[in-house]
Amino acid sequence: MPETLFRRLTLIGIGLIGSSIARVARERSDIAGEIVIHDCSPAALTRARALELGDRYDADAAAAVAGADAVILCAPVGAFAAIAEEIAGHLAPDAILSDVGSTKQSVLRDVGPLVPAGVHFVPAHPLAGTEHSGPDAGFSALFEGRWCLLTPPPGTDRAAVGRMAELWRRTGAMVEEMDAVHHDRVLAIVSHLPHLIAFTICGTADDLADETRQEVLQFAATGFRDFTRIAASDPTMWRDVFLNNREALLEMLARFLEDAQAMARAVRWGDGGYIEDKVNRGRKIRRNLIELKQA
Ligand code: NAP
Repeated sequence: MPETLFRRLTLIGIGLIGSSIARVARERSDIAGEIVIHDCSPAALTRARALELGDRYDADAAAAVAGADAVILCAPVGAFAAIAEEIAGHLAPDAILSDVGSTKQSVLRDVGPLVPAGVHFVPAHPLAGTEHSGPDAGFSALFEGRWCLLTPPPGTDRAAVGRMAELWRRTGAMVEEMDAVHHDRVLAIVSHLPHLIAFTICGTADDLADETRQEVLQFAATGFRDFTRIAASDPTMWRDVFLNNREALLEMLARFLEDAQAMARAVRWGDGGYIEDKVNRGRKIRRNLIELKQA
């Protein structure tokens, strides 16, 4: 059995992602000797206790991080600046401060300047999730076979990066390092834009006249259903993601709108070849995903 990575791991936010980390760390004794949990929601904290996700529960963030050698922020990214303010002065020297936020330049901007000297800042983003939220939604296999991207700022202690990478490998994830700017551009196209489209298309369907809206629900299986699953995601989390990856998301949206216009033109002028070509490209991307076991 490999050595336990951290003596005390504190999770700030015990929703889908935080509780999934807690569950893996509970199942495997080589991640953390002790798990401390903080959440600003008393209901989430009570639920975490009932589910026995941690060893200790603290309604005070500063007290929760004291003495921890690893702290992971698992709240929505819009809350990170306030959390960092609250905990910065209480982090142990040599501790690793990490997070799971879906946008990474914003984390460097909001948390980076508050990290005390001697604390190692290793931002991370597991590319795994579901449309559910809260402590009951997590499960220990969530990260298995999925990517976790680390975006440490230049000059970060390599041993600290290595320990965080090892934590994620022990959850079953595959780890890669990436620059935060690149991360945000990649995620804008593979995750943030698809969510924006899903939320928008559900709104469009909901705006339709009453009798059509009923049929949308009745016959949803024809394609709309897949959008509704994505659109069922947490509003706070997605509000924060969109507002904290504004530039990259708007750039990808502009490109998408141009391509959608080109498709509209092909439909209008009966350009069957163009339409077939786009569908074929979609099929090819799906086949590649299946081959890479990311489908
Ligand atoms: P979640 O299930 O909604 O859980 C977030 C928890 O954090 C909630 O209990 C929330 O309480 C709490 N919280 C909010 N503000 C806080 C604060 N200031 N201090 C302490 N706790 C706070 O969210 P999640 O899906 O686990 O997402 C957490 C993070 O993971 C986000 O940064 C998200 O971008 C990232 N992420 C999500 C996914 C995904 O698919 N869901 C995937 C990868 C990464 P309240 O409910 O009372 O606000």
